[in-house]
Amino acid sequence: MRTHDHRNFVFGLRNGILVHISQVLNGLACNCFCPHCSETLIAYNNPSNKKAQHFRHKSNVECEGYLETTIHYLAKEIIEEHGFLQVPDVNYFLSENAREYRSVCTEPPTITSVKPNKVVFEKIELEKKDGSLKPDIKATIGDRVLYIEIAVTHFVDDLKESKVRALGIPLIEVDLSDLPREFGKIDISNALTDIGRMKWIFNSKTFQRLEEKRFVASSITTFVERNIRRYKMYGRDKAIYECPLAENKSVSFETHCERCICLAGQLEAAYRMGDEPTYPENLVECIGHVNDEYQRLLKSHQIQSEEYTNYLKQHKHYGTLR
Ligand code: SF4
Ligand SMILES: [Zn+2]
Repeated sequence: MRTHDHRNFVFGLRNGILVHISQVLNGLACNCFCPHCSETLIAYNNPSNKKAQHFRHKSNVECEGYLETTIHYLAKEIIEEHGFLQVPDVNYFLSENAREYRSVCTEPPTITSVKPNKVVFEKIELEKKDGSLKPDIKATIGDRVLYIEIAVTHFVDDLKESKVRALGIPLIEVDLSDLPREFGKIDISNALTDIGRMKWIFNSKTFQRLEEKRFVASSITTFVERNIRRYKMYGRDKAIYECPLAENKSVSFETHCERCICLAGQLEAAYRMGDEPTYPENLVECIGHVNDEYQRLLKSHQIQSEEYTNYLKQHKHYGTLR
């Protein structure tokens, strides 16, 4: 766990407002208090000091929560100044490739797109108790609420996650655990505009989208699993003579199957034939014989990527089999 040292102990609360060490009088005249424990602070900012400017608690106590709370204050201040926060709008797309459904059974395959979504708040509150929860920041828009957790050393735990889920309150976590040691407000401001640092712990819209896709993915998984056929691959080139889409011509695994959406998997199996020694047999797992049905299934779920549509345009017939 990161604790503060004097280099980043440079903010104090004066009259309820966070001020930088450079803005206050020296010593007790700074009239500042610790944002975390409320103890009186002493400012060491005499220009003749050799050490960098810093605050200290009057009792010289090691205040573990100082850094985290200070960053919460700064984050709130920045969000208030901006008047909005960009949050990730997460969407999920399912693959056209049978192998994705085949290989990922427990976690259905999803491709995620993330774009920024600007949320303008009417009110921002810091560390205010809200029922049984106390979010780092509570942002309000009309009658809607968004909790923002600023993770410096503490990330959202399972209990908090289950509570917001049960209450249906959206909660986003912003990871600020890697701020530079001598961070300034600008570092936090930059971090708060980076949606890559944000993770939805709960968001009913996003979770509903995911649940819908999971449901579709599991029905496609069942279709793929039910229809798999195995064809033998011959020789170094891994030639396949039984490809259901090749009209009696052979195909090669690398050239054709690797780019085919009907590829469900590849097996490098070893069989023991009676007393014969074990030898490897390469098999391709394929759903090509139900290609039309598979295409219809994908279409019914509006699954077709731009990439694959372009691919089809380049290759008049399905796949690269002719
Ligand atoms: S249908 Fe596709 S995956 Fe199956 S053998 Fe032919 S090229 Fe390979
Ligand atoms: Zn303190």
